Amino acid sequence: MASGVVTVRRSPVHGRGAFANVELDAGQTLFDYQGKRITWAQACTDYAAKGVAGHTFYFDLGDGTVIDGGSGGNAARWINHSCDPNCEATNDGARIEVHTIKPVHAGDELTIDYNLIIDDPDDPAERALYACACGTEECRGVMLAP
Ligand SMILES: [Zn+2]
Repeated sequence: MASGVVTVRRSPVHGRGAFANVELDAGQTLFDYQGKRITWAQACTDYAAKGVAGHTFYFDLGDGTVIDGGSGGNAARWINHSCDPNCEATNDGARIEVHTIKPVHAGDELTIDYNLIIDDPDDPAERALYACACGTEECRGVMLAP
């Protein structure tokens, strides 16, 4: 889908967010999640070097590689997490497409349920890094997979 459908600006949820410029139907493909493809080992090294935890632009392709949306990425990397999202990302192993799963009004923020998997989801300090403030009725309190 052409650019111009989505705008990136400050989000009430977290940092910047991606917002719809137009009315969207459910099931519309918005864009690919773009960025540099790197191995998980490289991702972990880069991540440690940057010294930031709890928020990354990495998207796991499930085959040992990740897409680093922080490097050559597009607006897709600004999509915030919600426990009751209006978009989802599907992964066919080669590319990740973001599409709507419910109708979206112009001006609405686009969200995805990150369903993150971490090493130790029961560690309170780890969980705190992934706290969710989406404010929806479905909110699990964390961006981790239920
Ligand atoms: Zn939430």
